[in-house]
Amino acid sequence: MTEPALHPQEAATHRAYDAVVVGAGPNGLAAAVELARIGRTVLVLEAEATIGGGTRSGELTLPGFVHDLGSAIHPLGIASPFFRQLPLREHGLEWVHPGAPLAHPLDDGTAVLLDRSVAATAADLGPDGTAYRGLMWPAVEDVDKILNATMGRFRPPRHPFGLLATALNSVRSARRVAERAFAGERARALFAGNAAHSFLPMEQPPSAAFGFVLGTLGHAVGWPFPRGGSQKIADALASYLRSLGGEIRTGVRVGSLAELPPARATLLDLGPAQVLAIAGERLPGRYRRALERYQPGPGVFKLDYALDGPIPWTDPACGRAATVHLGGTLAEIAAGEAEVGRGGHPRRPFVLLAQQSLFDPTRAPAGKHTVWAYCHVPNGSTVDMADRIEAQIERFAPGFRDRVLHRAESSPAVLERQNANLVGGDINGGLMDLRQLLFRPAPRPNPWSTPVPGLYLCSSSTPPGGGVHGMAGYWAARAALRGTLCDGTEPAPADGAVPV
Ligand SMILES: Cc1cc2nc3c(=O)[nH]c(=O)nc-3n(C[C@H](O)[C@H](O)[C@H](O)COP(=O)(O)OP(=O)(O)OC[C@H]3O[C@@H](n4cnc5c(N)ncnc54)[C@H](O)[C@@H]3O)c2cc1C
Repeated sequence: MTEPALHPQEAATHRAYDAVVVGAGPNGLAAAVELARIGRTVLVLEAEATIGGGTRSGELTLPGFVHDLGSAIHPLGIASPFFRQLPLREHGLEWVHPGAPLAHPLDDGTAVLLDRSVAATAADLGPDGTAYRGLMWPAVEDVDKILNATMGRFRPPRHPFGLLATALNSVRSARRVAERAFAGERARALFAGNAAHSFLPMEQPPSAAFGFVLGTLGHAVGWPFPRGGSQKIADALASYLRSLGGEIRTGVRVGSLAELPPARATLLDLGPAQVLAIAGERLPGRYRRALERYQPGPGVFKLDYALDGPIPWTDPACGRAATVHLGGTLAEIAAGEAEVGRGGHPRRPFVLLAQQSLFDPTRAPAGKHTVWAYCHVPNGSTVDMADRIEAQIERFAPGFRDRVLHRAESSPAVLERQNANLVGGDINGGLMDLRQLLFRPAPRPNPWSTPVPGLYLCSSSTPPGGGVHGMAGYWAARAALRGTLCDGTEPAPADGAVPV
């Protein structure tokens, strides 16, 4: 049940909180949880009628079909060092693991499978199997070091031996790594599909890092999704927060810092454009200019389907995975992503598809299914990509169209209307090139703090960037606990140290 909205006029008379968080996305909720479990009083204000931001679910097509409005698949969620500390299962979050994390069909009618086992995946790659094992195994074996290095301040691991090659390869382009490591199309395509989650051209560093991180997590922790919809992640965080005494109010769109009730710390789960709109006049010129220079990433064009049966994949092995990458070979994926990078719209876009209802019957009526799919487009694009996405599905699953009961389209403008953070359809809180991965949203020793005392940023526009993992929220909360919420000494994390 949602509490009544806070009216701006109420602000002056409202009780004081230790902290106010603006935005109930996964990072805003994570920040609030970390503060509440240290004993601070917290109020979260959310503009929309429902909490969750990029991790919400709803009936987008027909009654009884549960669709994910934003995030669908959560390797970063299950791996998150912060989420792993929280009793989210007790608050309703259940991860569903499909038979395999990922399938990547090719035009010869077969699909490459990313299996939980490195050996099984390697066996599917023919002559490239040995190279694949050599490339991925060191990272899988040392996955905690990889998480340490990527989920926080990008600190190099303390004992990098064994991971040196992975580290060096990660700052390269996906194309260079895939073409040097592999001779065949299967392994190259598999690596490129994962690397394309970077939204970068395959020739641009550090696209390879995404290939390593997502591939490694596929083997080490899987690519699961929440039973009942991604909304369950937000709901579990909110339920835990309320059990700690935290408050959440929905339907409160904050237009200025002056509207907020008194608090010792304000944490904004917002991107730079919104931070400028809400707090711009309080920000010193240099910092403001850095935020103005911050670059959004490409956008996405998304489709959700209600189907009257499962997708008729040419290779039935695709039915083992909840995630399917549709883009063919490395060369084809690279051409498509390069075109998006140049501001164009590929005829054959790289499509990320999720078919959660195959493994979670709560998503659709008996015998029916849901499909979630999107492709990358230039930021703010107004081109309708629906038929091109559908053609890519049909290419690897002839007869797909005959199973469609209903299709819902979400252009970048629609996504931005659902969540003001998704500027131009950018789902990652800003371009994730090397500079903006390391220094987001502006170069500062502590990127979650701002030059304004008591004002912190906790969205995916701060490290470690996009994805549902709550780590930006966790780090912002720790910055506030060391800053204006410090009561003498910085409190230790409530349930033992987060291992990052
Ligand atoms: C279509 C799509 C697919 C995705 N797929 C995946 C995936 O499969 N796996 C994955 O890990 N990640 C995925 N992501 C990315 C992921 O959802 C985001 O990186 C993540 O949600 C960022 O969390 P956040 O808390 O920083 O911001 P958000 O989730 O954007 O939350 C910000 C919140 O602030 C609220 N807000 C904005 N302005 C105001 C205001 N003025 N006043 C009050 N409230 C305000 C918004 O309504 C929103 O609820 C996807 C995102 C989208 C949109």
